[in-house]
Amino acid sequence: MTHPTIGILGAGQLGRMLALAGYPLGLRFRFLDPAPGAPAGHMAEHTQAGYEDVATLERFSAGLDAVTYEFENVPVAVARFLADRVPVYPPPAALEVAQDRLVEKTFFQNLGVATPLFAPVDSQADLETAIAQIGLPAVLKTRRLGYDGKGQIILREPADAAAAWAALGDAPLILEGFVPFERELSILAARGRDGATAFFPLIENQHRDGILRLSLAPAPSATLALQSAAEQIASRALAALEYVGLLAIELFQVTSDEFQGTSGRNPSDSSLVTRHSSLVVNEMAPRVHNSGHWTIEGAETSQFEQHLRAVLGLPLGTTAARGFSAMINLIGALPDPTAILAIPGAHLHLYGKQPRAGRKLGHVTIRADELGELEERLAQVQSLIE
Ligand code: AMP
Repeated sequence: MTHPTIGILGAGQLGRMLALAGYPLGLRFRFLDPAPGAPAGHMAEHTQAGYEDVATLERFSAGLDAVTYEFENVPVAVARFLADRVPVYPPPAALEVAQDRLVEKTFFQNLGVATPLFAPVDSQADLETAIAQIGLPAVLKTRRLGYDGKGQIILREPADAAAAWAALGDAPLILEGFVPFERELSILAARGRDGATAFFPLIENQHRDGILRLSLAPAPSATLALQSAAEQIASRALAALEYVGLLAIELFQVTSDEFQGTSGRNPSDSSLVTRHSSLVVNEMAPRVHNSGHWTIEGAETSQFEQHLRAVLGLPLGTTAARGFSAMINLIGALPDPTAILAIPGAHLHLYGKQPRAGRKLGHVTIRADELGELEERLAQVQSLIE
């Protein structure tokens, strides 16, 4: 297999960056995505068709060496259909867990990992019961197909329940206790076909209107104990799913004595809790992740190359950070590229999409050898964007 061809379900910017990382390794790509003009379509062969047509899937998979995906809402039946023909990684079981917030939270709870308190909600009566159990504030979310804060409503007082039920009640729901987090973090982990694992440094993520705006890596003042707690969470998930590929886990960092949530089957497990802070799992994404874009310039191996190495059964790469990085998403509108590129250490990535409100059009990664220098450069980039 000198020049393996990888099929990717979804041809968005993540697929595009996977292809960009794969070309130096001599890889070839084929994309399947119903959207016309999808960002990865500029890079490689793009079959523009729906995911669920058997004849399309047969044609798409012919001659491929492996199939992967760049979004987690690929129908599980499609992944399984392809897995009968070609190796599909991450395993379809990981999709099944990630697609349903109730299954996902139960999965982590069974691994002995802390999650917010949660309860399924299928009726207005369930909602009342769940509020009584969990307390307020709480977050009511659709179990499936939610992303970037869509399909969720914060309940602050009992009177909010009726309107929230009216807005979301058509679909199966989950109520989660609101976590009073200090900050949001993510851990990106990879597992190879041989079971080897590798972990990137913790990343701090700042959101606005439910959309990721800024990632800082390595997460400022994250202790070794916190890093090791995150790696243990990821290790358990990787092993339980017999995972292959890159897995992203979104976490809340909380002050231990303020948080009341499930700590799974083994609440006395102090290995997941540092003296002052502990980690609570929000959700996972069985794919490369927006919070890992900084790794292209800011880590020894990028998350995209790492994913491809894992999927192809190649050795995993070193995950060490190169100095300090910040990644800013370009959402809705683009800054002047000349001004961005004039800033030392700034790297511009554009996805080839038409501007539209709320749309991720690109990102800027800023890298520096010193934290102070990173902060200065970040402020310069931010002044051009916000
Ligand atoms: P999600 O789509 O579940 O990742 O939620 C989007 C964002 O909403 C998260 O990144 C958090 O900022 C916030 N959020 C979600 N769930 C909770 C929760 N249980 N407690 C506090 N904030 C939450």
